[in-house]
Amino acid sequence: EALSTAQLYLDGITVSFDGFKALNALSLVIEPGELRTIIGPNGAGKTTMMDVITGKTRPDSGTALFEGRHDLTRLDEPAIANLGIGRKFQKPTVFENLTVEENLELALKDDRRIRHTLFRRLDDEQAGRLERVLGEIGLMHRRHDLAGLLSHGQKQWLEIGMLLVHDPRLILLDEPVAGMTDAETAATADLITRLAQYHTIVVVEHDMAFVRSLGAKVTVLHEGSVLAEGSIDAVQNHPRVIEVYLGR
Ligand code: ADP
Repeated sequence: EALSTAQLYLDGITVSFDGFKALNALSLVIEPGELRTIIGPNGAGKTTMMDVITGKTRPDSGTALFEGRHDLTRLDEPAIANLGIGRKFQKPTVFENLTVEENLELALKDDRRIRHTLFRRLDDEQAGRLERVLGEIGLMHRRHDLAGLLSHGQKQWLEIGMLLVHDPRLILLDEPVAGMTDAETAATADLITRLAQYHTIVVVEHDMAFVRSLGAKVTVLHEGSVLAEGSIDAVQNHPRVIEVYLGR
């Protein structure tokens, strides 16, 4: 049942590097529309988990199903991106010498399913989507400014916008508030909370105050598998989590 109705279903996922298990029988179920935060000490396997979901790394064993029917262990990265799984890496990679609007336009046209789109004008539907995303990420007033002139936080929001133009069915965010000011962090929590009303989102994050402000269910990874899962208060009071974070 969980298997067929989940947006993302991972079970028994193991990834070894030279015999070392970066993921060790990892199981994770993300329901449609859910916002989930993943935490865990360095080396816990968070990045490797994201790599498995996006097809960058193929697991040695285990099940990885998207929307109950797409076997992520058998698809390559472009095929998985085409399913609507969008990932934002920690460092922003916007085109600094293009405007905010041009960055979104380029993202919209970067669609492997359609040929020769780069030199075409956006159709009405795409233009409408671009407008909507500009509003969602709060950069309407900066649309004609070069992306290189944006603050670090604004670049991160633009990059989230570059995912949103594809109407993703699962959004993966890797440390979205790393390097942000307090005000930008608060605005990002607000943005993600708004997006979570109609998107399924998985956030990997270290900043505990930010994790708390999202108010989502938290999964704690440790040594490649799930150590605890629940509300932020529940996991922070979990004896094994305290042990892992404070040292034994
Ligand atoms: P996290 O993102 O939680 O910090 P990672 O998924 O990056 O953890 O790493 C999990 C473990 O796997 C770490 O011990 C890391 O050194 C190891 N690891 C990750 N990628 C590779 C790789 N390509 N080759 C060898 N070891 C790796």
